[in-house]
Amino acid sequence: MLVDGRTVEARHRFEADVCVIGGGAAAIVLTHELDNSDIQTLVIESGGFQTNQDVQSLSQGDTFGEPYCLSESRPRQFGGGTSAWGGLLQPLDPVDFEQRDWIPNSGWPLTRAGLDPYYARAQEIFFLPSMDYYEPAKAVATRSSAAPLPDTAILQTSVLHKMGNPYAHRPQYWKQIKRSKNVDIVIHSNVVELCADRSARIVNEVRVKTLQGNEFFVKARHFILAAGGIENARLLLASNQVQEAGLGNEHDLVGRNFMEHPYVRLGTVKSNRIDLTFYADGSWLQGSKIIPFLQLKPDVRAHHRLLGLKVEMCRLFPADGQRGIEAAKKLVIGLLNRQMPPDVLANGLKVATAPHHCLHYLIHRMSVSRVAALRRNAPVLLLAALEQAPVPTNRVVLTGERDDLGERKAALHFRVTDLDWDSFHRSIALIDAELRELGLERQENIPAPMASELQVPFGRHHMGTTRMHPDPKQGVVDENCQVHGVANLFVASSSVFPTGGHANATFTIAALTIRLADHLKSVLRS
Ligand SMILES: Cc1cc2nc3c(=O)[nH]c(=O)nc-3n(C[C@H](O)[C@H](O)[C@H](O)COP(=O)(O)OP(=O)(O)OC[C@H]3O[C@@H](n4cnc5c(N)ncnc54)[C@H](O)[C@@H]3O)c2cc1C
Repeated sequence: MLVDGRTVEARHRFEADVCVIGGGAAAIVLTHELDNSDIQTLVIESGGFQTNQDVQSLSQGDTFGEPYCLSESRPRQFGGGTSAWGGLLQPLDPVDFEQRDWIPNSGWPLTRAGLDPYYARAQEIFFLPSMDYYEPAKAVATRSSAAPLPDTAILQTSVLHKMGNPYAHRPQYWKQIKRSKNVDIVIHSNVVELCADRSARIVNEVRVKTLQGNEFFVKARHFILAAGGIENARLLLASNQVQEAGLGNEHDLVGRNFMEHPYVRLGTVKSNRIDLTFYADGSWLQGSKIIPFLQLKPDVRAHHRLLGLKVEMCRLFPADGQRGIEAAKKLVIGLLNRQMPPDVLANGLKVATAPHHCLHYLIHRMSVSRVAALRRNAPVLLLAALEQAPVPTNRVVLTGERDDLGERKAALHFRVTDLDWDSFHRSIALIDAELRELGLERQENIPAPMASELQVPFGRHHMGTTRMHPDPKQGVVDENCQVHGVANLFVASSSVFPTGGHANATFTIAALTIRLADHLKSVLRS
């Protein structure tokens, strides 16, 4: 059932077995798992199905350190980040779960082998084929004659998924929730407080506000924080009626250890001898795209004490990154998403005043460049995604400023640290040397339009702010994603990642959420 929170009677109290706070990627996976069960589930989502600027403004907040836009990186509507995402899905590597003595605070209480069955179930939810991520030649149906580069002593090729249509699942799950017998969703409604009992050991209910001034409550047996990596921390910190520092924040860890995936354009490579089509164009496997990338082997990372890093290769199209093209891409994404594109007038105007950019791009993308790009020696752009080490000073805090609901805003203190950059430079030096051995010389020449492109050079993955550790002094949640000391409060989000590897976050969020759904089912039925 779908309820519009703006029409709910003031002070009304909903009741449910499970209350899910947020209706983004994690919530969609959780409701998919709880649907068709006897567990009454209520999802509270801030937005609706369409973008709404008033709702979106609730995600605004200051950032200190790196240039980072808190609002742009977290769409506030059903689907959350997946209403604007790229649909890239990649598991963490086995080494990412290990304690690495050169990375402070590293080590998960879980292993990759332990998560593998959940990654397999997540593949089904995202309509992905099963594949071996480390055997690209096996994973990819070899439609092109191109092949991966041979693995060397230090370098290997791995693969990740890109959904054929990253926006397909949103309307499907919207419909599924609307007709579900045991899952209800209340939209246009913002949870503003987790109300705990006097001992702060149990959450009794959550307080919900709408932008129209309505206020109501949800009582449940279990509460799942699934509002994203920034908002989860904001809500715990703001829920300070019983514990002054915030719920679950006895050891001052909530909001700390924030991590992102910085992206760096490395320049281009080309070769007359080596065909890079395999990397630059990817391949299709049962309706989803397979994207190959290069990474250092795990033993090399350990020997050189390096953080994770992957290097993807992308085709270069003239006009990429120019004003008209970027605006046109936003409009097309909106249409594919079956909703009114954001800033439709402003973007429409940019397209209308730069039709030559669009024409140039289309002609090249569809014809001239396609042929040129398929030439074996066409240059390709190298794009690196970096792992960041968790550091407590990278953190989400509350400020004195209030949003339109009257709630304290979040601010982010965030730097890419010397440790991160040192690891990046040493990794690239190793990769460069290996590429040269293979006959590929990297040029640090980034084509002008792309270099000036005003895109956030981060993955928009918000990790670490409610980190997982079995010891309450070192983590906010335990290995079941339960907030330490609060028996009925759980977190479904990349905010629980102790470290984030170099993989896009959502596949691991989904795997952990499926695992959490199994745990909830067993707890509720016992
Ligand atoms: C442009 C873009 C591209 C991306 N590309 C990729 C990619 O290719 N691959 C990948 O893995 N990841 C990608 N991401 C990141 C991905 O979208 C996130 O990892 C994922 O959406 C996180 O899921 P989540 O459920 O934890 O949070 P979200 O998806 O952010 O969902 C949180 C939900 O909670 C709601 N909410 C927030 N506060 C409240 C409140 N107080 N009360 C009620 N509801 C609330 C929000 O409206 C939102 O719907 C991308 C993100 C963006 C923005």
